[in-house]
Amino acid sequence: MSAARITRRSLLVGGAALLAGAALPGTAHAAAPAPPILDCAAWGARPNSRIVNVVTQRPVKILVHHTATPNVVDLSRGAADSLARGIQNFHMDRRGWLDSGQHFTISRGGFVLEGRHRSLEVLRGGRQQVEGAHCTGQNFVAVGIENEGTYTDTEPTGVLWDRLREMCAYICGQYGIAPTEIYGHRDFKDTLCPGDVLYGMLPRLRGEVGDALGRRVEGSSVRAASWPVLREDDRGPVVRAAQHLLRAAGRTEVAVDGAFSAPMAESVRRFQADHATEEVNGIIGGESWPLLAAPVRAGEGGEAEQAVEALVASSSMRPPSTVGRQEWMQLLTAAR
Ligand SMILES: [Zn+2]
Repeated sequence: MSAARITRRSLLVGGAALLAGAALPGTAHAAAPAPPILDCAAWGARPNSRIVNVVTQRPVKILVHHTATPNVVDLSRGAADSLARGIQNFHMDRRGWLDSGQHFTISRGGFVLEGRHRSLEVLRGGRQQVEGAHCTGQNFVAVGIENEGTYTDTEPTGVLWDRLREMCAYICGQYGIAPTEIYGHRDFKDTLCPGDVLYGMLPRLRGEVGDALGRRVEGSSVRAASWPVLREDDRGPVVRAAQHLLRAAGRTEVAVDGAFSAPMAESVRRFQADHATEEVNGIIGGESWPLLAAPVRAGEGGEAEQAVEALVASSSMRPPSTVGRQEWMQLLTAAR
């Protein structure tokens, strides 16, 4: 791509943000300005190996990821560019994908970079979605943002956080996405991504994005009902419930003791292999929970109802007469 093109695109950032303020016909989207975004040409992306698929529908949610790379102290533009190139090389050469999998990347230094080609142009248009490769099953409906670092036990840099908030507000404004529709990768897959700490900050992110859009997100609605992540060494009623559900699913070797042991992790891996989940890793997250937590009616007995009872006993919730997806999420969240 020519240098002239880069300059022109860079100049357009401010203009596009202003245009975004004009709501789409028949909608009432609040607008937020875009942060500066470096397009693929600006950070020296390779050409995509196949045509990028663009679908004519708006995404309905945002997925937050972490790159699971070191929490570097180099906050420079150069470090951001090389991060984006490294991810693209990994996705194309090792995964065999046509381009970067995520739509956008944010560096620890607060640089926002386009991931997959066309993601920026399509976002500015506000009517279409680039098919990504950041979370199977969500790639047509969710914008994926990779945040540089590993946030299992530490917070992102302040400047990364600021850009993430601005980026989410801009995306929500462009597409009319509610701030409550910001999720973590683990909400849909058996993964620890985006790390316990950054995942725990998502309610704050929803609230701040709501504020940026002038749409106050009140109290409990910042905390989206979701599936908890369970891993080895976890303990408590949620583990106990999972043990009952694994037994209900045929893994009768699992002991019900409320402790996630190495043998339990092995049983989870077998369950995952049987169900052909994307990851076979012994972690129960957003992909395995819906497979385990089948609907239960009060009084039907069996392991599944015992799972419900284990959760009700350690929460202030009353036992629902029918436990479907939402009730399972509520019970699992309340019992933690
Ligand atoms: Zn992820």
